Amino acid sequence: MRTRPAVCARKKRFASEDDANAAAERAPFALRAYRCGLCRRWHLTGRTKGMKLPPFELARRKTMRTRAE
Ligand SMILES: [Zn+2]
Repeated sequence: MRTRPAVCARKKRFASEDDANAAAERAPFALRAYRCGLCRRWHLTGRTKGMKLPPFELARRKTMRTRAE
């Protein structure tokens, strides 16, 4: 994924994919970790359409299926 400099600058950075996923897991909405081509660190994106979801997100969607949000 290409990241624009402005997006990179205002996003949180994580040293590793594990760190990013740990933060994504605490967020109240779907987030996905991706490697930034600019700073070579990891950011989170809310754009998960068409992307492979991390295991915790799949599990969460399953449990939330019966609840209206
Ligand atoms: Zn970046």
